[in-house]
Amino acid sequence: MKEVIVATHNMGKLKEIREILYGMPFDIISIEEGGYHIDIVEDRTTFEGNALKKAIETMKHTGKIVIADDTGLEVYYLNGQPGVYSARFAGENATDEENRIKLLRLLEGVPKEDRGAAFKCSIVMAYPDGRILKAEGACEGSIGFSPRGSNGFGYDSIFVIDDDGTTFAELAPEEKNKISHRGKALRQLRSILEKTYNMHDSGGAYENRSIK
Ligand code: IMP
Repeated sequence: MKEVIVATHNMGKLKEIREILYGMPFDIISIEEGGYHIDIVEDRTTFEGNALKKAIETMKHTGKIVIADDTGLEVYYLNGQPGVYSARFAGENATDEENRIKLLRLLEGVPKEDRGAAFKCSIVMAYPDGRILKAEGACEGSIGFSPRGSNGFGYDSIFVIDDDGTTFAELAPEEKNKISHRGKALRQLRSILEKTYNMHDSGGAYENRSIK
């Protein structure tokens, strides 16, 4: 079976991608499993730009089909920050906790109704023949006043999803995947791939691009 490389070092992400794309006619392997080493600077101004860059550079390096994603949190009161800087919001090597603390500080005194935010996820699949598939997902919520819950990672414990103040970090992983930005984007990719591989109604499923 064909191999598809996932351009991530995050094993949680790899597991999620394998689960949601289960049954597709290819084996999904990580960069490490493929024995590749590649460093990519995520310097684009949009999630899609970074996902495209990661997918295309990794595809060129490996010669294989590649799936890459870029994800982040946009807080409306902060004009979309941290956005593409979500992982390094509090500094280049910032921990998740330092990033959360910085965000809570910037929102000190901001009332509940002005704390709206959304997680955004952009996924790109790049084929060596130049075809590009794109999918995206978003999850709306708000930023809490203090962390709650111990599941998940990143901003999960301060990302509130309902009026009771429940955070992503209080959900079981399956529950989070049902509503999360990445879960939605991956299910959209799956449905594009199902059309593509059935070859019945693939019109529009591929965005053809020439990659130089
Ligand atoms: P990445 O593009 O998946 O590496 O995500 C960039 C940053 O966004 C991560 O370092 C996390 O801080 C944050 N992030 C991405 N996805 C999630 C999520 O599902 N929950 C919480 N934080 C996330």
